[in-house]
Formats: sequence, C-alpha cells, structure tokens
Amino acid sequence: EQLGGHYHYITKAVEKLFPQRYKFQHKGNFGHVQVFAGSLGKIGAAYLCAKGAMRAGAGLLTLHVPQCAMAILQTSLPEAMLTLDDDYAHISSSGILDKTNVVCFGPGVGTHIATVEALRGLLESYSGPLVIDADGLNILSEHSELADMLPVNTIITPHVGEFHRLFGEHSHGLGRIETARQQAMRREWIIVLKGAHTAIVAPNGNVYFNSTGNPGMATAGSGDVLAGVISGLLAQGLSPLEAAQLAVYWHGKAGDEAAKNVGKLSLMASDLLEFLPTSNLNV
Ligand code: AMP
Ligand code: MG
Repeated sequence: EQLGGHYHYITKAVEKLFPQRYKFQHKGNFGHVQVFAGSLGKIGAAYLCAKGAMRAGAGLLTLHVPQCAMAILQTSLPEAMLTLDDDYAHISSSGILDKTNVVCFGPGVGTHIATVEALRGLLESYSGPLVIDADGLNILSEHSELADMLPVNTIITPHVGEFHRLFGEHSHGLGRIETARQQAMRREWIIVLKGAHTAIVAPNGNVYFNSTGNPGMATAGSGDVLAGVISGLLAQGLSPLEAAQLAVYWHGKAGDEAAKNVGKLSLMASDLLEFLPTSNLNV
C-alpha cells in the first residue's frame, strides 16, 4: 500500500509471496541454507535461527558452529546438518559447502578476532544471497573493509543499537529512516531496521513499514528467528526484497498468534517458532 513518496505499508497482500508446494517437488527444490551462528554460551542463537529457516520451508540446512555446539544441536535440532569449526568456542573458519545457496552469518557469534577472519574468508569466497545479523553486524561496524566486501543485495537486519553502531548515533525518528535510505541506496543493500514498526529499506530508496507484531516480541532471540525466516525464504527463490518483506510480516504474525496464546509478558522466541507454521495463522 502506497503512503506517498517513498513510503509504503506491508499489508496482507504480501501473503501471495508464500511459496507453494507441488506434488513432485523434493527437498532439493527448496534450497540449502548455511547458517554461521553461535559461540560458547550462545548456542541458543544458532538453534533459533536455524529452526526459523526450517520453519520457513528451507529444504536443507547446515549449521556451521564451534565444537562446543555439537551435542546441543544434534539433540535439539536433529533436522540440521553441522559443519563443525576447528575451534571449541568460536567460529574461526568459513568453509562454504558447494551446495549452499543462502548464507546467514551472525547470531550469537561474538566478535572474537578469529570470527572476524572467518567472515573475511567467507566474503572472499562467496557472493550469493547473504543475510548478516547481530554480531555479524557488530563485526562490520568495527571493520569497515569487511562492510565494503558485502555483495549487492545483501540483507542486513540491525536493531536500533546495531544500526547506530553501523551508521552513527546522530539519527533518530524519521532521520534514522533517511539515513537507512541513503545507506541502502549507496551500498545497494536491503536494510531491515527492526523495532516496533520494522522498516525495510530497498536499494532504490523505497521504505516498507511492517504492520504486524507486538511488544511481546521484545525478548531475547526474537531477531535470531527473523534472520532464519528471511534465509529460508531466500532459499526458496524469493528475491531479497520479497524475502525480507514476507519474513518480517510472517514473524510479526507469529508473534501476534503467540501473544494470543501465551500472553505478551510470557512470550519467548521459541514460541515464535511454534506459531510460525502457516497452519496456526489465517494465511
Ligand atoms: P532482536 O533485537 O535482534 O532480538 O530483534 C527483535 C525482534 O523483535 C525484531 O524483529 C523486532 O521487530 C521485534 N520487536 C522488538 N520490539 C518490538 C515491539 N515493541 N513491537 C513489535 N516488535 C518488536
Ligand atoms: Mg538480534
């Protein structure tokens, strides 16, 4: 829906982007996401992100995680394959599988120098669809030469704190949206500026405000799930802008459904995973 100028609302019409399933399709048709996430004490971020991608319909999912994550994830998320890093506590390498067609980097990875180098290695060898979230963004804030290496159409998903670290603290309110527009146009990135009214800013300067979600979603791990959902939709062939729009809308819907069931106060990120399934929603 057009609000005038560059501004639009994301409405129910975005539901037409939900991928369909046809009788003779197989998992190879739905993409292979590789998620780089987690560090010692933050393996939950890897779990939430990967499960978000699978709930969004990714055909195959591989998690690249430090050694300490192995038993945790093989138990909690048996559907995910793992490529184990050599390091016990941090991601320190960046092997991309040949079959990977979407990469998500960042939830819970920390900002250890070994992980910075892993991201550098990844960007040197991979230029396909890419989602950068959380500590991945904090690394970019500290290493502008890595930000310069991001391929066009990379999706970045900062909350306000991460946004300010990336682009400076000077902007607020609509000024912040204007900063996001300038950066999205200059870099040719899709910027998902998260908050009560998440704004998706396209490389052409268009801004799409989300209309779903509630403050119950202001809880640990909520954004990790979103990064996964975006990645899972990219894997199924949605364009980066479409994937960001549908994911933000869907994630908010799941939050609204979760709030109806458990209440805003009690809502946790794992509830978002339970209410994402389209069977729970009026879609
Ligand atoms: P993160 O801070 O990375 O965990 O991301 C938080 C997620 O929860 C984002 O998708 C936000 O849009 C969403 N969220 C946080 N606070 C609110 C709020 N007050 N109303 C609606 N959504 C919110
Ligand atoms: Mg986050």
